[in-house]
Amino acid sequence: MKRASLVGISAVALLILACSDNDPPTGPATGSITVTVSTTGSDAPPGYTVVVGGSTTRSVDANGSVTISSVSSGAHPVELTDVPANCTVSTANPAMVTVNAGGTAPVAMRVACSAFPPLEVTDAALPDGVVSSGYSASLQATGGDGSYEWSISSGSLPGGLSLGNGLISGRPSEAGYFVFRIIVQSAGRADTIEARIRTYETEALRGFLAPLPDQIEYFIRKNEELLPRNPHLETEIRGKLELLADPDLEARILNERMYGEALTNTLDGRGIPVLITFPADTMRPGALEDLSRLPDAVAALETFVGMPWPYDFVHEWYGFKTGHSGAWGLIYMEDRGTYAERGVPHNTIIPHELAHTYIAHEGLTQFLEVYAYNLVETGSVNVEDWIWLRGEYASFAPENTAVYALLDIYQLIGPQSMGRAFKAIIELGAPYGAPLSAAAQQAFIDEAPASVAAQVSEAAARI
Ligand SMILES: [Zn+2]
Repeated sequence: MKRASLVGISAVALLILACSDNDPPTGPATGSITVTVSTTGSDAPPGYTVVVGGSTTRSVDANGSVTISSVSSGAHPVELTDVPANCTVSTANPAMVTVNAGGTAPVAMRVACSAFPPLEVTDAALPDGVVSSGYSASLQATGGDGSYEWSISSGSLPGGLSLGNGLISGRPSEAGYFVFRIIVQSAGRADTIEARIRTYETEALRGFLAPLPDQIEYFIRKNEELLPRNPHLETEIRGKLELLADPDLEARILNERMYGEALTNTLDGRGIPVLITFPADTMRPGALEDLSRLPDAVAALETFVGMPWPYDFVHEWYGFKTGHSGAWGLIYMEDRGTYAERGVPHNTIIPHELAHTYIAHEGLTQFLEVYAYNLVETGSVNVEDWIWLRGEYASFAPENTAVYALLDIYQLIGPQSMGRAFKAIIELGAPYGAPLSAAAQQAFIDEAPASVAAQVSEAAARI
């Protein structure tokens, strides 16, 4: 132990000796590097990072300089990093720099930046949502530096939805028409766009009401077409056109719940939605009365012809169009306010237009109207109990007399046979605006007992 201590002391003594001689210092030789950056062009970043020798890093302004000291003498790579994609370093990068002990090596680096493409929201057409169902829509933009920050600048999303990282998601908690402004920011710029999300209480209402804008266009066209042909209805038609011209009509229908939904069971046991909508709140009571009448009318028709309703919905557009029409599971009904019983009462036209889903022929449809309306109102299949037989309405047009021939046949062969004959004719097809074909007439004769066959045949020829 004592010897080891002695060796240590002599080593310290040697070191003191070495320092006390007159030679220049021989420690590690170092110098400095000054990096000067100049940037030209638009959309330059605030600055970059300088990396010396792959490890020492310093920040530098886009037009500035930085000095890195205590760099060992010799050659070092100096690299400018964190250069955004719209900028290019036009000088060597990395630059090789030789540092002399005690000296400062200058490096000049030049960067050229180009303008970002203009920032633009590319897709603000957001999908519709259904209350309580999952919702997800991503916002899209182009331009800027490629990274986007999104927010809502005015208005609000439907309850239950939120915006984060460019994604609108959640489960809507309310139905309506929601308008808001989206703002996107990128590299100090911003773009805003108006967007909207429509939400519906049910999937069935979404299917029914999503085409509203197209439907409104269609109804405008139809009413305009009616105008020259129906000068006596000019006031009614212009009233509809005025309603439909409101650019906020769709929003009002959705926000003021100008629609109704019921459910009905078809002959083949399907539960299907029955939906109605109307373009003015004053039409609500009349429309809701129509809605309440639709399921029974459909059931009466289905049972009579022995054919399930051929669609998975019953849709009624109430009050959008002057006049009435129907086909393909839907009916267009004029509202009670403007219709005011011009001929056939509104409530009897409901089964009439529904019947057109089964058959085009007007006389056959008028019979189905009389049958289904009276069955629902009186519960009776006997003509003597019925309260609506189209009265004098037949005189308005020659084709309207067919219904009387059909009522004659009905009384001769009875409801079951009549229903079977209708089913056969529906399957054959009976076009609108043409007399009943011989084959279709035969369907009635086939159902007639021999005793009345001649009378049925005679009546069928009048259809
Ligand atoms: Zn008709």
